[in-house]
Amino acid sequence: GKARSWEIEKVPTLCPYCGTGCTIELEVVQKKGVREVIAASAPSHGGGIVNGRSLCAKGRFGMGFIHHPERLTKPLIRKNGKLIETTWEEAFSTIAKKFKDLLQAEGPDAFAFLASARTTNEENYLLNKISRAVIGTNNIDHCARLCHSASVAGLAAAFGSGAMTNPIKDIEKSDTFLVLGSNTTETHPVIAQQMIQAIKKGSQAIVIDPRKTEIAQLAQEHIQIKAGTDLAFLNSLAHVIIEEKLYNNRFVEERTENFKALAAAVAPCTPQWAAEITGLRPEQIIAVARAYSRAKKAAIYYTMGITQRFTGTYNVMAIANLALLTGHIGRPGTGVNPLRGQNNVQGACDMGALPDVYPGYQAVQDEKIRRKMASLWAVEEEKLSIRPGCTVGEMIDGAAEGTIKAMFIMGENPVLADANSSHVVKALQKLDILVVADIFLTETAELAHVVLPAASFAEKEGTFTNTERRVQSLHKAIEQRGEARPDWKILTELSCRLGYPMNYESPAEILEEINLVNSAYGGITPERLHKEGSLCWPCPSSDHPGTARLHEESFSRGKGKFHGVPYLGPAEEPCQNYPYILSTGRRLFHYHGGSMTRRGALHWAYPEEHLEMHPKDGAQEGLRTGDLVTLHSRRGAVTLPVYLTEGVAPGLVFSSFHFRESRINELTNGARDPIAKIPELKHCAVRIEKEKDW
Ligand code: SF4
Repeated sequence: GKARSWEIEKVPTLCPYCGTGCTIELEVVQKKGVREVIAASAPSHGGGIVNGRSLCAKGRFGMGFIHHPERLTKPLIRKNGKLIETTWEEAFSTIAKKFKDLLQAEGPDAFAFLASARTTNEENYLLNKISRAVIGTNNIDHCARLCHSASVAGLAAAFGSGAMTNPIKDIEKSDTFLVLGSNTTETHPVIAQQMIQAIKKGSQAIVIDPRKTEIAQLAQEHIQIKAGTDLAFLNSLAHVIIEEKLYNNRFVEERTENFKALAAAVAPCTPQWAAEITGLRPEQIIAVARAYSRAKKAAIYYTMGITQRFTGTYNVMAIANLALLTGHIGRPGTGVNPLRGQNNVQGACDMGALPDVYPGYQAVQDEKIRRKMASLWAVEEEKLSIRPGCTVGEMIDGAAEGTIKAMFIMGENPVLADANSSHVVKALQKLDILVVADIFLTETAELAHVVLPAASFAEKEGTFTNTERRVQSLHKAIEQRGEARPDWKILTELSCRLGYPMNYESPAEILEEINLVNSAYGGITPERLHKEGSLCWPCPSSDHPGTARLHEESFSRGKGKFHGVPYLGPAEEPCQNYPYILSTGRRLFHYHGGSMTRRGALHWAYPEEHLEMHPKDGAQEGLRTGDLVTLHSRRGAVTLPVYLTEGVAPGLVFSSFHFRESRINELTNGARDPIAKIPELKHCAVRIEKEKDW
């Protein structure tokens, strides 16, 4: 029966979905002596630091997965081709033996590790340590490669720090803000709410997006740009700002460098030139340039529409150019703000779950840093590799080619989430050993030799870092399911078995080590988090208040650097055989591979996927809403129903990648940005064929 209000204990913790970092309260009851989560609600009392008393549908109704019967409760091992239940002892001894043999026979670079933006900072830190100090390879990466690696690379080059520059609370302080390639109301709903508040209070919002998203409709201006042409638009904005002398001369002189290179690069990017590429009118481009540069305080928000591109890093650099030209950075209501996707994707990057840097973005190639890390981790200097490791895509290619023999995947599902998924499946099947730690038997776990049952966020302690660099604590609400273990315990045991003892008693002890290793987290101690609730990095010492806003006095790299970047089009343009552009994205009620949101109430709010197509294209193809179509790209084919809507521009079709039934990533293009190695998930050429009546 229903629990009575006095039987419910409310445990404040963090939402496990998006990077906004909302506080939620898990409602816990005792059933026959066992604690059970029955719901989640908005935080009572003063509300959450980020969200006040707001939550979106995912935070409010997305907790059904916690007690779902398909949760993994025992380790699994592959025998005679089948995954069967086993003991932790057998699971660990199998992994340890195979890992030791392979390390001896093939060397450390035959190993690859995928960390997870869903797990805690402490867990990502440990996996980074196992990869580097225990195995001796920099082959560690995670799904940030697929979302904001271009931001990390582009903003680090321009400003010296690859993170959101301003706090979420600054949104309401902007006079004007641009939203580029971000379906904010569905992907960061609580941030979108603050944008909508700001619009109501009189801020001018300009949304640049090929789709008529909800935020595009709520904004004063929707610039419906042709998919994949943002760089032409951004360069042209810089052109107009320079040409019309709308830039902030003093700021450019005092705080930036390389202006001449930018001016030369954008000189040919006239609005007329950009109009032809982007499908916009020249006046639209001029109007945006004027609105952004003339505002007292203007900010830019963007997400995957900008980064999941063949020119992702260039796109980000072109955005940074605009902030540097106008001086819209380092002050309230300004900034360059990549909205980070997953709850802890910022933290996983901060913890060194990247192939070229230790925790705190310290380059693996730097001899001095290697010496310091060797002494902190008590290993021989030679143990730490000086070679940057493989990115996600390179690991998959390595597995396909046989150079990568062993993979350990913690809480990621590349089979559904990565581009060109049949290639991913074939590659993973070639591994000598694939170990997956997860809470469900995902499409990736199904391919593993050993599957380790992990604890969910509700069953453990630790910290997450949200999109605005705010480090916050999880609070354990219930016990682990069956024999499942939190990832940090799985990793400490694995490390011990591999001959490198790890004796942490709690995530707090791991955080204390992070305080020493990553100077931006130096003052973010367990005690302070307990007392102060949360802190934004950089927070280098115990008396530092943390940093809500970056680059106020100077940039992390000293001067802000302009980058003159040339316009390059998408890697794959439509042609006669594949006349449409397919773009992929997310839905309000679901999250990524859907392993959590499709197990519970949210599934019923949005039970199946469709392909969005403009009615004009529908008429041309003889299609009506509900008709079943097969979508072909150069890499594969998937079948799903069509939904005619003016939400997409003619020539563009759109679907999400949440659904295993319509594995849209069978189609997407694995072509990568040469700098950040992010694949062009947002753009591939497809053909549409109507299925016979069914
Ligand atoms: Fe959770 Fe993001 Fe929704 Fe907040 S906005 S409740 S963090 S999914």
